Amino acid sequence: MSSGASAQATQRSSVVTCPHCGRKNRVPAAADGVPKCGNCHNPLPWIVDAGDDDFTEVVERASIPVVVDLWATWCGPCRMVSPALEQLATERAGQIKLVKVDVDSAPRLSQRFEVRAVPTLMVVRDGQVIARQPGAAPVPVLRSWLDEALGTGSGSGSGSGSGSAASPPKDSADPKETSP
Ligand SMILES: [Zn+2]
Repeated sequence: MSSGASAQATQRSSVVTCPHCGRKNRVPAAADGVPKCGNCHNPLPWIVDAGDDDFTEVVERASIPVVVDLWATWCGPCRMVSPALEQLATERAGQIKLVKVDVDSAPRLSQRFEVRAVPTLMVVRDGQVIARQPGAAPVPVLRSWLDEALGTGSGSGSGSGSGSAASPPKDSADPKETSP
């Protein structure tokens, strides 16, 4: 953010506005739990920046899944996808964390993740990249991409998966419909 800050492993933080009460809150780049509003105690959108030096702490050691936005200042589509991601981070406050990485200031990360195009989006859970998407996309696409990566959404709730073999195709042609 502020230019000229020494690249020390200092804790970064950012300020987000609580979507519930409008109060501005400072959220740390890394924390054990999830940030909550100091006023209304709802979970806050967790939107922070990270770079080469703090990626491990901010992303790989995060307590909740992280959406990583690898972007660049000169990239037009990035300016469209960033607000979309922020909207998702707001919708899923307390469930995901959004971390933005400026690839021009993070050459090691760019190399490590072989970023050839920006934006490149990733979902990282427990330090593992579980999904990756090159290029921008509108909110509904990003939302379903995220849901698919995290195995949420689409109401299949409890129970350990992997039990569902291919269910036989059901040609439901009702043989007869007895009317009363
Ligand atoms: Zn609040």
